[in-house]
Amino acid sequence: FGMLRRNDPEMAQVLLDELERTRGGLQLIASENFTSPAVLAALGSALTNKYAEGYPGHRYHGGCEVVDRAEALAVERAKLLFGAEHVNVQPYSGTTANLAAYAALLRPGDTVLAMALSHGGHLTHGSRSNFSGRWFDVVSYGVRRDTELLDYDEVRDLALRYRPKMIICGAAAYPRLIDFAAFRGIADEVGAWLLADMAHTIGLMAGGVIPSAVPYADVVTFTTHKSLRGPRGGGILCTSEVAARIDRAVFPFTQGGPLMHAIAAKAVMFGEALRPEFAGYCAKMIANCRALADTLAEEGMRPVTDGTDTHLALVDLRGLGVSGAEAERRCAAAGITLDRSVIPYDPEPPTVTSGLRLGTPCVTTQGMEPSDLVEVGRLVARAVREPRAAGEIGERVAALSAAHQAYPCRR
Ligand code: PLP
Repeated sequence: FGMLRRNDPEMAQVLLDELERTRGGLQLIASENFTSPAVLAALGSALTNKYAEGYPGHRYHGGCEVVDRAEALAVERAKLLFGAEHVNVQPYSGTTANLAAYAALLRPGDTVLAMALSHGGHLTHGSRSNFSGRWFDVVSYGVRRDTELLDYDEVRDLALRYRPKMIICGAAAYPRLIDFAAFRGIADEVGAWLLADMAHTIGLMAGGVIPSAVPYADVVTFTTHKSLRGPRGGGILCTSEVAARIDRAVFPFTQGGPLMHAIAAKAVMFGEALRPEFAGYCAKMIANCRALADTLAEEGMRPVTDGTDTHLALVDLRGLGVSGAEAERRCAAAGITLDRSVIPYDPEPPTVTSGLRLGTPCVTTQGMEPSDLVEVGRLVARAVREPRAAGEIGERVAALSAAHQAYPCRR
């Protein structure tokens, strides 16, 4: 860092300010985490310099024998962690992992059945503003109005009616477990591929605290930077049957040279997730999220589905008469970073929304316990209800955060 400070003080200050921002507040964005110093070291390494188009042992450049070891380690560790037949660790992000899955299994114009964005799905599950909605014929399923849970009867009915080539399960904002066996059964009934997009819950799957999609899905896509606590990036697990197609779809079809520094960092992350402590971390993420959701419920912020089985909770703010956008702003003023979120059957547009999405990956990495999350829930509720008390709430938020630092302080 001393070198960066001498070379480019302006950018060094940006890095310090970002560290300071996260240190001074509470990070409750469900898709973020604090990766380990070992992962950061791999990311900041000379492996970023190496071109390595292709796969270990079959590259289109010379001098790849060392970086081959990094990728081989990442693949070997991921296979062990997830019990997958095949792994591709090259996707630059969850979006490019999904793009490769579509490219491997479908042709433009094919029909896909996926969860609606407005009910918790992702842009890559058929939004018109994304390749998925533009190049494929996407039919959407949602959650039931009464229970806010996935409606497997509706999924089956739609599958029988539209005969999709691929069914996607997985979401960006669904707090409950997904019945992979039910999805597999429906996919088999109509002869569709099953893609499980585990971008959010892959860490929980790695920790063994939620059921794995691997035995059921043909392809499992994921991100590495959320609950898995690694570098920003993506990955794919799949059966041997589709392995060659997936690899070709990643490179050369949708990507160029792999980011070898990021792949090294993914290998470090898989190594960390293989340690027994990681299961404890995952169990704590869920316990913390339940404590947070229960507290918010007591404070009049109803958790969608009345709770959570994962690291994230969605809350319905309509009881407080505050929009998601306004609540996000009020929390930010008190040093609490979280996302506004549409909730199922939301009467407001996505820029406004009636809900918030909160998650516990960051605060759990910081060492917080369920009792801390009770306090966090009260602080969130007070920040939403009493915008004038933002300064006072912010002081307590800063103190709580200071007592649980993700990174050692070195200025
Ligand atoms: N799929 C789901 C379900 C997600 O939640 C996300 C990200 O939030 C993605 C895919 C895309 O990941 P990325 O932002 O790395 O492209």
